[in-house]
Amino acid sequence: MFLARGGVVLYHRHVTASLSTRFFATPRDAGAKRRQTKQRDAILRVLQAASGPLAVQEIHTQAQRELGKIGIATVYRTLKLLQDDQHVAPVTMPTGEVRYEMAGLGHHVHFQCRSCRQVVDLPPSTKAFLRGMRVPAQFVVEACEVTLYGLCAQCT
Ligand SMILES: [Zn+2]
Repeated sequence: MFLARGGVVLYHRHVTASLSTRFFATPRDAGAKRRQTKQRDAILRVLQAASGPLAVQEIHTQAQRELGKIGIATVYRTLKLLQDDQHVAPVTMPTGEVRYEMAGLGHHVHFQCRSCRQVVDLPPSTKAFLRGMRVPAQFVVEACEVTLYGLCAQCT
């Protein structure tokens, strides 16, 4: 199944699997489900409040502030489920590091500080950057990953 969102074509291959786990939950799973929902909502709140894509370790630290004890494996598992449901999108940095952000943000440019390593989204005005690209006739742009590097305000 294909879904167009913000001009980017996404492939929905995990939807069937995650729907079946959600619909066939048995009552004795209720406690675990409640805990999962709490963890999932906390992680979504962390990502919503973030100024850029976060590393798993950062998500873990910030989710702990709300939930207290949460294992890193749970964070990975929850991120996988949120990704399957298209709520969260992975961002693979040119270094190979995988970070996470809310899905459906559309085209935007990232900035990574080379000192503290934090990544921030640049304001929407950076769309001008993409408009300045010359794409050959008949070519269709489906995705874009741009990362600028330098020093953030705290590190300069
Ligand atoms: Zn910095």
